[in-house]
Order: sequence, then structure tokens, then C-alpha cells
Amino acid sequence: MARYRGPVCRLCRRERMKLHLKGDRCFTDKCAIERRNYPPGQHGQGRGKLSEYGKQLREKQKVRRIYGIQEKQFRMYFQTADRRKGVTGEQLLQQLELRLDNMVYRMGFANSRTEARHLVRHGHFLVNGKRVDIPSYVTKAGDTVAVREKSRQIPAVIAAQENLASRGAPRWIEVDAKSFQGMVKELPRREDITMPIEEHLIVELYSK
Ligand code: SF4
Repeated sequence: MARYRGPVCRLCRRERMKLHLKGDRCFTDKCAIERRNYPPGQHGQGRGKLSEYGKQLREKQKVRRIYGIQEKQFRMYFQTADRRKGVTGEQLLQQLELRLDNMVYRMGFANSRTEARHLVRHGHFLVNGKRVDIPSYVTKAGDTVAVREKSRQIPAVIAAQENLASRGAPRWIEVDAKSFQGMVKELPRREDITMPIEEHLIVELYSK
């Protein structure tokens, strides 16, 4: 399926929560969720109670949209999580969190995951000293992610760095803003992922 190229605020409205897809704007009162917190479309305000399947589907779509993953790739993440030891839902979220584009966003080198993905694709980051331009690259505990020397003047990176102080980096990541570098201290645990996600619904959906 092709990547969605329509208005992203519509996706937040569909999920009825902030998915933080637009960077700075998401923290202002211009956010569509602040203004119109109901699903888009002619019948948006009239939609009734969701079925069990509907809830599972919405949860999967929500997580896919937060991390900007296509359906096929998302299913592959699920299959990998299912094969691993441990709780499948948690393994799924851990894989998503460890993607390089998410790491760049979490470390405060980009204001949104979309922006992070764009910057990674243009080769602005080094992982353990080597240039990596694959947004889905999976980082591991102990990996360092750094902005390339010549990319440190990019306005988007500088603006994101200024916002990191207010947003804060998660416990499992260490960021040294001065050297434009961060490190994955350890693998994220379930309690580190604070977004309201009910991953068991996704597991139920894919296990049918
Ligand atoms: Fe979602 Fe951000 Fe748009 Fe608000 S401004 S609706 S959080 S993408």
C-alpha cells in the first residue's frame, strides 16, 4: 500500500489523540485535536461504539501511524516479535522504539519522526561512527548515534535540540547535546513507553 500523503492531523483526529506527527505545532493550540477532537468526515461526530474488532484495528492503526510504518513492514515486526522470547506486544514496541528514525527523534535531533526519517535518509547521521541512511535500521544497547559534523548547522536539527530541554530524553537514552551525540544505554522496557498504547489488542488482531 502506498504511503499516506494526505493531511496528517486527520490521522490524529481519526485516532482521537495526539500522535505528534507535526513537531512544534503539536504543542500549540493550533493542534487539530485541541480544536476538533472528533473523527474526520461527514459522520465523524455521529460514530457509535466500536466492536471488539474495531478496537483492535484502531489500536494497530494508531501505533502504525505514531511510528510511520507501512502495513507490510508492521506485520513483519509483529512476526519477529512473536518468534522472540517474552511478551509479544512488548517485543513489538521495543523493535519500533529501537528504529534509527525513532532514536533520532527521541534523542532530540528532530522534532517529529517524519522529520527524523527525512534527515536519516539524507545521510545526516552516524551510528557507531559509520554513516547510516536507513530509517528502519535497528539500534542496540551500547550504540551511539551522532549528527555528522557537516550536518550540525541544519536549522531543523538546531531547532529540535532547543526543544529537547522541554521534551526530555527517555531514561534509557543518554544525550550529549553539545557533541550532537546520543547513546542507547539499555533496551527500553514497557514502562519506558509512556504513550497510551494497548498492545495486547494488536496481538489479538494478528492472532486471529
Ligand atoms: Fe496531531 Fe500534531 Fe496535528 Fe495535533 S498538530 S493533530 S498532534 S499532527
